[in-house]
Amino acid sequence: MIKTSANKPQLIDRFGREVTYVRLSVTDRCDLRCVYCMSEDMKFVPREQLLTLEEMNRIGKAFIDLGVNKIRLTGGEPLTRRNILSVFKTLGSEENLKDLTVTTNGTLLEKYAQPLKDAGVTRINVSLDTLRADRFKKITRIGKLEKTLAGIEAALRVGFKKIKLNAVIMHGHNDDEIIDLVEYVRVRNMDISFIEEMPLGEIGDHDRAKTYYSSDDLRELLQNHYNLTATTEQTGGPAKYYRFADNDESRIGFISPHSHNFCDDCNRVRVTAEGMLLLCLGQEHSLDLRKVVRANPDASINDDEALKQAIIGAMQLKPKGHDFNLNEQPIIMRHMSATGG
Ligand code: SAM
Ligand code: SF4
Repeated sequence: MIKTSANKPQLIDRFGREVTYVRLSVTDRCDLRCVYCMSEDMKFVPREQLLTLEEMNRIGKAFIDLGVNKIRLTGGEPLTRRNILSVFKTLGSEENLKDLTVTTNGTLLEKYAQPLKDAGVTRINVSLDTLRADRFKKITRIGKLEKTLAGIEAALRVGFKKIKLNAVIMHGHNDDEIIDLVEYVRVRNMDISFIEEMPLGEIGDHDRAKTYYSSDDLRELLQNHYNLTATTEQTGGPAKYYRFADNDESRIGFISPHSHNFCDDCNRVRVTAEGMLLLCLGQEHSLDLRKVVRANPDASINDDEALKQAIIGAMQLKPKGHDFNLNEQPIIMRHMSATGG
């Protein structure tokens, strides 16, 4: 089915930015413990405080009715949430949703690649910071590289195009694999985004100011290796993209919250697994959507007026931007896994 975005954007904030993209965290739990994302002994939200699958569907549909045309399911690890395919199916059948995407660590992708494709998922991002099994175990604290690699191959096999790797590069951890990761995506016609590590939550591992690897340094290194051209392409995200002179299919993106503030073009909001609508990744401005949903138990997915009005009102809370500072203790105590990265 070719999808068109018929709904006019109705979510406009105080700075005139249209919100057309929602990241919905479907769980704060994960089968890995990446050192930049989580601490070793994470406390997770009690299950009864999580949105139910039906509540997620209601929230997703309300956003679509208000002009959102892209939804990304994330987490925690979204594919570990029981019966999560039903949410993919419900949202994937919405005609006004142009893009339904997922960010995953890939460990369960071998099993889920085909069902996700069948449910209408348009693109997949897989997080992968190293191609070395021993290092993968160290960075994820518990993971097995071969599972993620098998997941990526399965996604390619079932026909996903433009699969994107997300890689967090940390000085002294994996900065000697930058070219290897780029070569990995180039031979598979995939994209890659390099993300600067953000100071979200206590991780009890490295000092983030010491491992910080800026996008500018990365780009310089890559430009010494490849003939890269900046593109003006926008994928509705904060990444700035570059193309290779000798490969039309792959792109390199840089997500640089520290070195290049991306807030002016921000088109997104996040919903945590508990149903908190977060207006900014790096600030605490929020609205409790679970409360609204549970206060209106008789509303249906097609008639959820109170929820829609609450979402429209929340746009007034969206701040102008984040103010991350790696030299301070994390000002945002929420981990990325709880935020919906
Ligand atoms: N578990 C899934 C995964 O790893 O792809 C989805 C959730 S994860 C929180 C989403 C993305 O956030 C991943 O690409 C991960 O690398 C990134 N991430 C986690 N913590 C981060 C941090 N402190 N700074 C920058 N990126 C981070
Ligand atoms: Fe889990 Fe993703 Fe966080 Fe790694 S980055 S611990 S895979 S949520």
